[in-house]
Amino acid sequence: VQIKTPKLPRQAVGIMGGTFNPVHIGHLIMADQVMAQLKLKKVSFIPDAQPPHQDHKETIDAKDRVAMLELALAGHQGFDLDLLEIARGGKSYTYDTIVELKRRHPLADYYLILGADMIEYLPTWHRIDELAKLVTFVGVKRPGYSTKAKYPVIWVDTPEVAISSTKIRQLVSNHCPINYLVPDKVQAYIKEKGLYLEH
Ligand code: ATP
Ligand code: MG
Repeated sequence: VQIKTPKLPRQAVGIMGGTFNPVHIGHLIMADQVMAQLKLKKVSFIPDAQPPHQDHKETIDAKDRVAMLELALAGHQGFDLDLLEIARGGKSYTYDTIVELKRRHPLADYYLILGADMIEYLPTWHRIDELAKLVTFVGVKRPGYSTKAKYPVIWVDTPEVAISSTKIRQLVSNHCPINYLVPDKVQAYIKEKGLYLEH
């Protein structure tokens, strides 16, 4: 007797890692475009506990970065939030995260969505050659950065957005508006909590 086991389909899942200090429309536009153009089932936003390379003295508490992501992602079909890096704590290495995700979801194929600045930086990443075998890198152009890459990258054509979290933090600390640069609810949260007012 042959026992039939149902063959479950593999799932294409996008990963948007970052510090999201704070999340801005550049992040949302790139995730949305990549999800649609590559026909991904979903995109998981994974805020880091501590960025491995960035100087993190300006990084605000994870609780506030997560609260802003919740506000920004609410109601967007296919966007979800995974707090595994914050739960793990310490330096957040993408390699560790992908190993853990693949253990939890063996049927998922992961597409790591990265801005051009990060693509340039890949050669310096922790266990990069092993990571490169576990995921597909998806690049999104970013004004001011080249599309040079040492690893195979699928470049997705999206409107280029010259917005960064650094620029938003500067604007807030200079008492300039951030209208249209972040979702309205994120803007209200920053104002209510008095985030990014001092350097
Ligand atoms: P910061 O200025 O603090 O570094 P950021 O705007 O670069 O903030 P991150 O949280 O560092 O945001 O980035 C998360 C991911 O989003 C990275 O892969 C980064 O390259 C990408 N990214 C952020 N903003 C853009 C943008 N405007 N265009 C393309 N990619 C972007
Ligand atoms: Mg950055």
